[in-house]
Amino acid sequence: MRTVAVVGGSLAGLSAARALREQEFDGRVVVVGAEDRLPYDRPPLSKDFLAGKVGVDDLALTTDDDADLDLDWRLGDPAAGLDRGRGAVVLASGQEIAADGVVLATGARARSLPGAQLGGVHTLRTVEDALALRRDLTPGSRLVVIGGGFIGGEVASTARELGVEVTMIESNPIPLGRVLGAEIASACAGLHGDNGVRLIAGTVVTGLVGDARVREVHLADGRVESADAVVVGIGALPNVEWLAGSGVDHDHRGVWTDARGATNVPQVVAAGDCTFSHCAFAGTALRQEHWTHALQQPAAAVTTLLGRTTVDAARPPAPYFWSDQYGARLQFAGHRLPGDAVEVVEGDLESRRFVAGYRRDGELVAVFAMNQPKLFGKWRRQLVPRHATTVAELT
Ligand SMILES: Cc1cc2nc3c(=O)[nH]c(=O)nc-3n(C[C@H](O)[C@H](O)[C@H](O)COP(=O)(O)OP(=O)(O)OC[C@H]3O[C@@H](n4cnc5c(N)ncnc54)[C@H](O)[C@@H]3O)c2cc1C
Repeated sequence: MRTVAVVGGSLAGLSAARALREQEFDGRVVVVGAEDRLPYDRPPLSKDFLAGKVGVDDLALTTDDDADLDLDWRLGDPAAGLDRGRGAVVLASGQEIAADGVVLATGARARSLPGAQLGGVHTLRTVEDALALRRDLTPGSRLVVIGGGFIGGEVASTARELGVEVTMIESNPIPLGRVLGAEIASACAGLHGDNGVRLIAGTVVTGLVGDARVREVHLADGRVESADAVVVGIGALPNVEWLAGSGVDHDHRGVWTDARGATNVPQVVAAGDCTFSHCAFAGTALRQEHWTHALQQPAAAVTTLLGRTTVDAARPPAPYFWSDQYGARLQFAGHRLPGDAVEVVEGDLESRRFVAGYRRDGELVAVFAMNQPKLFGKWRRQLVPRHATTVAELT
């Protein structure tokens, strides 16, 4: 293998490029990125960057050491097709990159809502999104956050810090209820109330109404909320459409891979947010849209691409993410299903400092912590995969 094309110039793409060199691939590595920027970190976009506490330069993921990787960057020119017959990645500009190995790392984009073209309606995925949103977060203005997931929660928290009046609309009875279960999700939802966010749960948005700018958010229960700005935080869609006709199995859930990043096509692997991968903790395929996954999984995918095996690939880490809201650190690891038993194993809910363990058939399957990072680490280390790591079948 002489040339590897890494498609996607963000965390997973950079991690794959680094892994190629760490695993002693000495051929050409071309990194194709749709954005006009070198890889940058997205978690601060809803936290310190949105708050104006750090600048664009502070987001850089590349370091001086990366100059030694000898990467050929092709930025601002997205991949538009993968031509397996000719062994080429075709860019939007029409340029072609001949490659005998390909890493797919095109991540995801924010889901939108009908009517979202009105001024003042935002999604949050890129630096440009965050800069545009920040301009609208003026003290005393009214922000409606649609979606009480982690990004919605973080935006609400940062907006409150900036003196913005915030209303959050969540379609489920409790924000994060599906991820954490009602009891633990209620403890998290309490943070919104404590910090002056009006939470409207159990109803959906039916329309965004305004003239040039959004003015109102209409809800299914008949309520109308006034808004100077709106953030739509209703999840993300994998960037996979460009693979149409390539022969690489994918659908709206992502690029299908096994636990080691292998797709159905030899010499094409995938990593990060764009993947719909077999998870040994879930026993099924899922999309893990988490920073740590995009950092760690590419090494396994590169190992697969180079035809090697490692001990690490045989013992994958449990899915993990964190979120920072209102000064509280929330952390979750493992895979929870409805019906799993949950108990607080350290601290208590009232103090907002606790660890909760989720059990299935008596076995620890997931851990959540609020403001207990050290104890969270102790419990997280006890999580072990319940399923085989190599299963490729997807449903
Ligand atoms: C606001 C925000 C806050 C977050 N906070 C947290 C957090 O607190 N904790 C946590 O665990 N995770 C967090 N995440 C998630 C984390 O940032 C992602 O899991 C991570 O960025 C995924 O990296 P990736 O490289 O797989 O995908 P992405 O970061 O989405 O990068 C994919 C790149 O590929 C490019 N691309 C797309 N299509 C093409 C194409 N056809 N050709 C070439 N390039 C293409 C995209 O433009 C993008 O630059 C957050 C995400 C966001 C948006």
